Amino acid sequence: MQRRAVAESPGSPSAPMPTILSHGDAALEVRSVNMPLSVLILGGTSEGRTLALRLAADARFRALLSFAGRTQHVVDPGVPHRVGGFGGVPGLLAHLASEGHQVLVDATHPFAAQMSENAAAAAARARVPLLRLEGPAWSQTAGDRWRVVPSMADAPAALGELPRRVFLSIGRQEVAAFARAPWHDYLIRAVDAFVPPLARARVIAARGPFELASELALFERERVELLVSKNAGTPSTYAKIEAARQLGVPVVMVARPSLPPVETVPDVAAAVAWLVKHHGAPSMRRGV
Ligand code: NAP
Repeated sequence: MQRRAVAESPGSPSAPMPTILSHGDAALEVRSVNMPLSVLILGGTSEGRTLALRLAADARFRALLSFAGRTQHVVDPGVPHRVGGFGGVPGLLAHLASEGHQVLVDATHPFAAQMSENAAAAAARARVPLLRLEGPAWSQTAGDRWRVVPSMADAPAALGELPRRVFLSIGRQEVAAFARAPWHDYLIRAVDAFVPPLARARVIAARGPFELASELALFERERVELLVSKNAGTPSTYAKIEAARQLGVPVVMVARPSLPPVETVPDVAAAVAWLVKHHGAPSMRRGV
C-alpha cells in the first residue's frame, strides 16, 4: 500500500489537508489531524441549535443538525441540517455510516426518550462516541407549589376532582391523556395550532422562549388556576414556573423519563470543550 499526501484545497486558510491511502486503483480517504470532525447533532432544542452554530463557526468541525420534523415549519437554523426520522436504530446506523459522522451529540429534549434510546444503541453498535447535552432538571424553590408526578399518564389524576382552569404547557403530543379529566377547562400552548382531542379546551400557538412579563400577563388574563409542565430544565421555558410561583398557582410537574446512562454535559460550552478535548484538532477559527 502506498501512502501519499494530496495538495491542500486552495483558498481557505482553514481548508483541511486530507491524507490519501491508495491501494491499486482504489483510494481510501482518512482523517488527518487537520480534517474537520464530522458531528451529527440530534436537535429540536435551542441548545442543539446553539451548539450547531458554534461548531459551524469553528473549522475544526463539520456539523449536521437533525430535526424530527414535528412542527409545521422548521425555523431555518442557519446551519446545515436535515429533517425527519432516521427509521429507528437501523436507519440511524445507516445514516452514521453513509455520512461518515465521527461523533454523535444527543441534544434532544429530555422527554424525547425514544430518540435518546436509539442514539445510545446506534452509537454503541457503530462504536461512535456519544455525548448527551442536557442541563439539570428544575428543582423547587421557596414559594413553589409543585406536585411531582412520574409520567404524563399520572398528571390528570393530580388535577383533582374540582373543575379548574388548567394551563397545559406540554406540547401537543400527550394532550389526549387529559380526556380522563374532562371536567376541567384546558388552555393548551403548542408551537402549531391544532384541534384538541378534549371537549373543553382552547389552543394558543406560540414558540418560546417566553419572558416572565408575558407569562404573568397570560396567567392573569386566562385566570390560570393550575399549570401542568414537563420538567424540561431549560432556561428558555422557565418563566412559566416563575409566574406560577409569583401568583401562587400550583404546578403539576411531570418528572423526566429515565434515559440511557451516557456521558453528559450541562451546556453548550462544555459540549464544545468535550469535543475539542476528546476529538478536536488544534484551533482553526473561521473568523468569528
Ligand atoms: P421521541 O419520541 O424520542 O422520538 C420519536 C422518533 O422521532 C424517533 O424515534 C425518531 O424517529 C424521531 N426523532 C426524534 N428526534 C429526532 C431528531 N432530532 N432527528 C431526527 N429524528 C428524530 O421524540 P419526541 O418526544 O417526539 O420529540 C421530537 C423532537 O422534538 C425531538 O427532536 C425533541 O428534541 C423535540 N422536542 C421534544 C419535546 C418533548 O417534550 N418531547 C419538547 C421540545 C422539543 P426514527 O426512529 O424514525 O429515527
